[in-house]
Amino acid sequence: MTDAMIDPDECWTAVLARDRSYDGRFVTGVLSTGIYCRPSCAARHPARGNVRFFATSAEARAAGLRPCKRCLPDDVARDERAVLAAIAAIKAAEQPLALAALAVETGYSPTHFQRVFTRHTGLSPAAYARALMAERAREALTGEGQVTEAIYAAGYSGPSRFYDANRERLGMTPSAWANGGRGVTIHWAVVETSLGAMLVAATAKGVCRLSFDEGRAALETRFPNAELVEGGADFAALLEQVVAAVEAPGDFSHIPLDVKGTAFQEAVWRELQRIPPGETRTYAELAAAAGKPRAVRAAGSANGANNVAVLIPCHRVIRTGGALGGYAYGLEIKRKLLEKEGAVLPLGD
Ligand SMILES: [Zn+2]
Repeated sequence: MTDAMIDPDECWTAVLARDRSYDGRFVTGVLSTGIYCRPSCAARHPARGNVRFFATSAEARAAGLRPCKRCLPDDVARDERAVLAAIAAIKAAEQPLALAALAVETGYSPTHFQRVFTRHTGLSPAAYARALMAERAREALTGEGQVTEAIYAAGYSGPSRFYDANRERLGMTPSAWANGGRGVTIHWAVVETSLGAMLVAATAKGVCRLSFDEGRAALETRFPNAELVEGGADFAALLEQVVAAVEAPGDFSHIPLDVKGTAFQEAVWRELQRIPPGETRTYAELAAAAGKPRAVRAAGSANGANNVAVLIPCHRVIRTGGALGGYAYGLEIKRKLLEKEGAVLPLGD
């Protein structure tokens, strides 16, 4: 009575991306440590060879593994109910709700609830409430009425905060991303580079994925409804620029990107693009630069959720104390990228 198990390669792709949408669909058993995790676990990724996927927690336990104390893989269903209940409460509320009040509803402590909520939505409950206000303001703007009226109707204290919260976003329209790339054509290719086989994929707006040791299957997982076309004349010109940028790192800002994340993820990605080649930042510095100094772990997750390696230079983030930290495509590629850029590297990791 085993549940239908999804493809191990798809599982591993989800784990590397810390893709929350896979939580509850399988668990990741780490044979070397004897624990099992939800796919989105924020802990450092194990080596692929130490990993075995299980359709359910029960099967992982039957194999002698224990649940991870960090991501609490057995709590997925309970967490989802709690987050959905909190979102409903936030939406229904006239006034911003205190975290403690939201937590009480769920039976979690405020700190734990904040962590669960942030893991699910990418935003703290307070930031989620602000994003909701921004969305309502945008909706009001498309209707009749004056701009300032719309702003006050949405609960903002004044126009400047509205414009601040609605700073330019990057790339593909949110609906196209939410629909797995429906209506979008993605050109792609795998090319050999000094860092190994590199996958580059782009929409008409810009590069939507850059990764290593991946192929068409990874794109099908991420953009199941997009039309995937290998190669193409216009794409070839873009591909040439991307390869040149990867081989001789420098200013990548002329290369268009098409990425979409939560407001906080996009803030983190923008800050990553501001780190000059040859320099590094810690996860704590990144969180602070993105405006949330205490969201160090969320900044790390946003870093890991980056779809466009190198061009959004998540490899320029290292651990406090100088260790290299993790990298979705392996530390060797991270080290090579940093060396190419002339960064001063720690001796070991
Ligand atoms: Zn875990």
